[in-house]
Order: sequence, then structure tokens, then C-alpha cells
Amino acid sequence: MKILVAVKRVVDYNVKVRVKADQSGVELANVKMALNPFCEIAVEEAVRLKEQGVASEIVVVSVGPATAQEQLRTALALGADRAVLVESAEELSSLAVAKLLKAVVDREQPQLVITGKQAIDSDNNQTGQMLAALCGFAQGTFASRVEVAGDSVKVTREIDGGLQTVALKLPAIVTTDLRLNEPHYASLPNIMKAKKKPLDLLTPQALGVSTASTLKVLKVEAPAARSAGIKVKSVAELVEKLKNEAKVI
Ligand code: AMP
Repeated sequence: MKILVAVKRVVDYNVKVRVKADQSGVELANVKMALNPFCEIAVEEAVRLKEQGVASEIVVVSVGPATAQEQLRTALALGADRAVLVESAEELSSLAVAKLLKAVVDREQPQLVITGKQAIDSDNNQTGQMLAALCGFAQGTFASRVEVAGDSVKVTREIDGGLQTVALKLPAIVTTDLRLNEPHYASLPNIMKAKKKPLDLLTPQALGVSTASTLKVLKVEAPAARSAGIKVKSVAELVEKLKNEAKVI
């Protein structure tokens, strides 16, 4: 079966993000960018399904600027077979991204779509769900285990205080949680091989999708700086401060 994995280029998780002076967003100039960690887990899961003989082809797709080709090459080095970039320099809403991904699903006809549960830049946690709704596919979100059997996929989901297992009829969408797997590093030979793998360029216009947004980001603010902590000399002093200063007990 064919698996489509959606991957996003985001600010590397090690970078301390800085809000732009005009509060319109975060500073991206000269900032290290990377494959969104949950998308890396999505690619790894697809690769494992291919190694098990369940998947026959892995296509990775990204919506973003031309530079997102770097992250697609990373996904190819991790084991994907082919990549598609829907090139757009605009800041797109989740719904616009989901509509573009739906157009790619229509072209590629995958049996399984895997996305991350969330992109660590905007923390939206909604693109996979929106895509499932647009495609009319079943969805298994926050997956910590994925088992394909015949025409269905069993997904163990991480929910508050426990696990829920659901069976989805294929085609379906799975979104990955942190504990699904531990992605391996791409080896140098695979990084070299990835340079030769096919990468197709598409545009929203070519897909016939309008990316006009009904959502506007009004402002982005950094969290308030935390005041420094203090050291107390005794438990009695701690209790006194919690009672009289913090007033929490
Ligand atoms: P979000 O809803 O933005 O938190 O993203 C959840 C998941 O949707 C990500 O982990 C990706 O798998 C997918 N996704 C979001 N934005 C994009 C994008 N621009 N291109 C490809 N996939 C995306």
C-alpha cells in the first residue's frame, strides 16, 4: 500500500525563538530550521511499515517555501521514496494547508496518511483532523501504536490517563504522538542517495486550491519573564512564605 506522510519545516526545537519587534510573528531570519519532530516520527513509522512489508511506497509532502525542499530531502534520507512540495511563500492557515494536502491525497490515492499530532511552531494540532474531515477518512489521532491488518488499521491512542485502541477502515489518517517510535538518524550514504530521489514541485494554483484565509493572527507575544527564585533556610521558613507571601496554603 501507498503511505502519504505530511511533513512541515519548522524552527529547530533547540532554537530559543524570538518574537518580532512588531509582534506579527516570530523571527525566522537566520534561524536554524528543521523537520518538525512529530513529522519525523511519522516518516519513521511509514519506514517501519515498509520494512514490515506492509507499505510498498512512501510519498512525503510538504506545503511551504522553496527551502522546505531541505526537510523533504531529510525525509527522503530517512527512507521515503518520493517527495512533493506544494510551494507557497505565504503564511498559510491550517485549513488552507489541509485543502492543499487533500488535493495531493486526490492525486496520490494513498491508503494511509500519516501526519504529526502538531507542528511545534504554531502548536495548532488540527491539520490532520481537518484533512481527515475533508477526505472523509477515519482518523486515529495521538497514536502510540499502529498496526495494519488487511483493510484496516488498529491505532492505540494516548488519551488523558490511559490508552484507547480504535480500528479504522482504510483509507485512514493517523497522527503521531511522541511515544510511537524513536526516529533513527539518516546515514551518510542515505543522505547522498536522497539527493537523487524524485522531488516534484507543485503550486496551489496548479492544484486549483484557493489559500485565502478566514483567520488572521492579531499578535504574537513572548511569555512574561519569570522572576528569580530564592533559597530558604528551613522547612519552617518555606511554610511561612507559602502561607504569608505566596498565599497558596
Ligand atoms: P498542526 O495542525 O499545524 O499542529 O500540524 C499537525 C501536522 O500537520 C504536522 O505535524 C504535519 O504533519 C502536518 N502539517 C501542518 N502544516 C503542514 C505543512 N505546511 N506542510 C505539510 N504538512 C503540514
